[in-house]
Amino acid sequence: MDVKRKLEILADAAKYDASCASSGTEKRDSRDGKGIGSTDAGMGICHSYAPDGRCISLLKILLTNACNFDCLYCVNRASSNVTRARFTIDEVVQLTLDFYRRNYIEGLFLSSGIIRSADYTMEQVVRVARKLREEHQFRGYIHLKTIPEADDALITEAGKYADRLSINIEVPEEQSLAKLAPEKNVRAIRRTMGRLRLKLDEAREGRKPTPRGKVGPRFAPAGQSTQMIIGADNASDSTIIRTSANLYGSYNLKRVYYSAFSPIPDASRSLPLRAPPLIREHRLYQADWLMRFYGFDADEIVDDSHGMLSLEMDPKLAWALRNRDRFPLDVNRASREDLLRVPGFGARAVQRIIETRRISSIRVGDLARLHIPRNKALPFIVLPDHRPAVNLLDGTKLAERFKPKAMQLGFGF
Ligand code: SF4
Repeated sequence: MDVKRKLEILADAAKYDASCASSGTEKRDSRDGKGIGSTDAGMGICHSYAPDGRCISLLKILLTNACNFDCLYCVNRASSNVTRARFTIDEVVQLTLDFYRRNYIEGLFLSSGIIRSADYTMEQVVRVARKLREEHQFRGYIHLKTIPEADDALITEAGKYADRLSINIEVPEEQSLAKLAPEKNVRAIRRTMGRLRLKLDEAREGRKPTPRGKVGPRFAPAGQSTQMIIGADNASDSTIIRTSANLYGSYNLKRVYYSAFSPIPDASRSLPLRAPPLIREHRLYQADWLMRFYGFDADEIVDDSHGMLSLEMDPKLAWALRNRDRFPLDVNRASREDLLRVPGFGARAVQRIIETRRISSIRVGDLARLHIPRNKALPFIVLPDHRPAVNLLDGTKLAERFKPKAMQLGFGF
């Protein structure tokens, strides 16, 4: 099989992995004339998009789509009837270098099906990264998938070469994993996440600032991340968000990625026939954002009577409508924490509000300059020239105002 055909198969097999962001790593380049590549944003990066709209700026491939495991939700599972392929280490290295030189990619995302054993597979993945870094002085971004059961020495070596390591938690609930991926061990997954956290903390503490930048032990400077498949089981959004909060807190993860389940050919009857709406994945990312940057607790984001995020409006607006007693808020006096909870107020807008109000009062006319959508924010705020009508905030019509307009469905012809 030629490399082009392998690339078709192994890039397609990797498309279900959502982790393609390359943010948060150390600065590195080859302006000293040595090596190849850089991690500077925008330097020779060519973004491309998968058919479902996800951004792919890395060469995202599997080393092989052969796998000993039989995870029901996975197109690469042992019992799947797909064409199998396997790259050699040199082929992945050469592809990465060629694509980088042509500005197609900013780095490599490498995962693999599990062949022979966890250690053997992890060793193959590490050998690619080692060769890129040590033989070719590759300084672009590398994200490696970690095999949870792999030997500690291999994981340490992976962290030496990779910018980011990730281990997929797969599904939010332990009992679902046991049903859908019986060979996977949630305890091993969590144990390895814990090991990664310890190594990340040790490396961070061991690195000392010098005039030439930080020096010291290196271990995955862009941290660790994970991915959860959404809609393959019955887990509610509330469960998903609480699981994410627990993962962020316990393992100091940089990101949890949410990937809407895609029905696969010859799927097990335990799986749903249809994919969940993509908007659900989007709402989960918004909820995740609220936890990480807006000071929300997992418990307050989802209305527990339903356990699901609204598909019709974003989670912050839905929260504000459930907590109307906390509004209207005086924009010129409210704390930063309270301002972050106003619908339509982004973190940057809040920062600008705080800077601006030190000098002069903020009025309705200033909202556009602050990039705040008036219609969304005005019912919840007080300004010197604006106060929402008394019955607006308490009335049933307020929620209706934000719902998307009803549309007649097409007839399909
Ligand atoms: S171990 Fe990974 S590649 Fe193998 S079947 Fe499970 S999810 Fe798919």
